[in-house]
Amino acid sequence: MSKPVILTGIRSNEEPTLGNYLGGMLPMVALQREHAGEYQINMFVPDLHSFTTPIDHASLYRNSLTNLKYFIAAGLDLSNPDTFLYRQSYIPAHSELTWILDCFTYVGEMSRMTQFKEKSSEHNESVTMGLFNYPVLMAADILLYNAKYVPVGEDQFQHLEITRDIATRFNNKFGDIFTIPEATKQQMSFIQRDNGLRIRSLTDPTKKMSKSSTDEKSKILLADDPEVARKKIMSATTDSLGEINFNWETQPGITSLLQILALLGGRSQEEVNAEWVGHTQYGDFKKAVADEVARFLTDFQARLATITDEILLAKLEQSERDMAITANETLLRAQRAVGLRPTV
Ligand code: ATP
Ligand code: MG
Repeated sequence: MSKPVILTGIRSNEEPTLGNYLGGMLPMVALQREHAGEYQINMFVPDLHSFTTPIDHASLYRNSLTNLKYFIAAGLDLSNPDTFLYRQSYIPAHSELTWILDCFTYVGEMSRMTQFKEKSSEHNESVTMGLFNYPVLMAADILLYNAKYVPVGEDQFQHLEITRDIATRFNNKFGDIFTIPEATKQQMSFIQRDNGLRIRSLTDPTKKMSKSSTDEKSKILLADDPEVARKKIMSATTDSLGEINFNWETQPGITSLLQILALLGGRSQEEVNAEWVGHTQYGDFKKAVADEVARFLTDFQARLATITDEILLAKLEQSERDMAITANETLLRAQRAVGLRPTV
């Protein structure tokens, strides 16, 4: 009756960059294009996850909406009937199930989570229970909707495995309550959300472009004024070799600009290289890239401006009503299993 579920979180990404657009948003849009029809696609905003480490709470609500608008401007189709877009905190079953699962999760196994170990060493003044418990909330996010596929990066593999462990333990004790998501190996062969693309920093092209970098010139923000972005490209670090070549080892700056030119222009790398390799005028080349970036930003920002709160909230509220039904059904099965509700 129902379609298999692909579940993915749309992370709050304040001030997203061109790297986030090409490497994070476009693959998500492609996932929707390729799999809607055959699968149900749950895209949720993990707003409860967003303050496991300190944030600016005054802007959390607004940021969640703004962030979604970026995805829509990047091509996410709100009218697709197989796609559900919802905020975690609007479906209280996430927190309810987390508590139940907590009581079947061992401190020992949670203490082995490498992401917790890493993050808690960065923030050792203020390590919260939320940070420690975050993988259990993630398990609830997945299990509530009987999700089969959860396209995640390598950093989340351990959390996916603990979800499977907790669900299997629960099922062994209480019967067939949860759908076990596919193992990471199967997930990997089904889909990779991260397409491996790494857009480079404009000031140090041996590093990736990062939204958290404090060097404003290193990154193109999707919200940048196109003229400001143009200047950033014109001052991007290149080399003194004096000839354009596509070579990540010897000319990472030039190569990165060739890549941006191809990706934003929707042209193949070969075509762009055929046009520019061998040229010696870096200025002309940078101007071509700067024009392409400015044109892209102008179009993108025009699309962004058409997406109103009303359009977005209508989709969110409808999805939240629909998804609460599934989530509450799963929660009720778990509540019955542990004796909180009468069995039928
Ligand atoms: P931070 O500096 O805070 O880590 P970030 O720019 O690396 O920020 P993330 O929030 O870590 O962004 O990642 C969001 C998405 O953007 C992920 O899918 C990630 O793979 C993608 N992404 C981030 N940076 C790049 C980049 N330079 N090139 C391509 N994809 C990127
Ligand atoms: Mg990052």
